[in-house]
Amino acid sequence: MLFFGLTLLVAAMASALMLFVTPPIWIGLALLFGYVAVILAGVMIPRLAMFAPVIWRVRNGRSEVVLTFDDGPQPESTRKVLATLNRFGAHATFFVLASKALAAPEVLREIAAAGHEIGVHGDRHDRLLSFRHPDRIASDVERAQGAVAAATGQQPRLFRPPMGHISPRTALVAGRLGLTLVGWSVRGRDGLSRTTAAAVLSRVVAGLRPGAIVLLHDASERSPREPAGVAALPAILEETRRRGLRCVSLSQALAQEPWQ
Ligand SMILES: [Zn+2]
Repeated sequence: MLFFGLTLLVAAMASALMLFVTPPIWIGLALLFGYVAVILAGVMIPRLAMFAPVIWRVRNGRSEVVLTFDDGPQPESTRKVLATLNRFGAHATFFVLASKALAAPEVLREIAAAGHEIGVHGDRHDRLLSFRHPDRIASDVERAQGAVAAATGQQPRLFRPPMGHISPRTALVAGRLGLTLVGWSVRGRDGLSRTTAAAVLSRVVAGLRPGAIVLLHDASERSPREPAGVAALPAILEETRRRGLRCVSLSQALAQEPWQ
């Protein structure tokens, strides 16, 4: 947020300067495009935390990592992920979509019953959600909260927006709904159709260190295809174990209550 403040300051100073000297039009345009580029970077790169506090890593001094799974639940692939996590005694955080949660509430109950945490990821994975009207963003997120509450009886407090995009509007709605915004420090890019389990593994392992928040998928965004992260998960968990890292849910790592 400090960065956003600085950009505003620079913009204000540039505007003040233009009152005294009339610069060539190209300088004005360059400043405008530069400013838009900075704002877009702030929306698209959650770790910049430009418009709101965003948790993208954990600094608790413990040997813990947080595995997160987006875009589910999808009964078959989500259950594979649950079985693998169980085999390694690992816990994780799932960011679920309302549209899929309403179709498979029993899978949400299985996630919660296994001691994992459930956050929300929106309704139908609207890629432009962060640019919508705040009321539209709120209703999208509330649908996901409602779906989780209906299935598990618990109200989620974590929100990872689709694509991780966080605009001033997303920040406003998250604040209004009392939701904590969550990004990531390393991602497997396992949502891409052409990626392989080996590629996902090497990407994740490169960022595997205490406090890492790892972005993986337990379902594809729109198709029933199994994301490569599901096949990569056993090797990822082997590697975390080898490095003496414990996989915990985000709330465990932050030592906070998982539900509102
Ligand atoms: Zn997603």
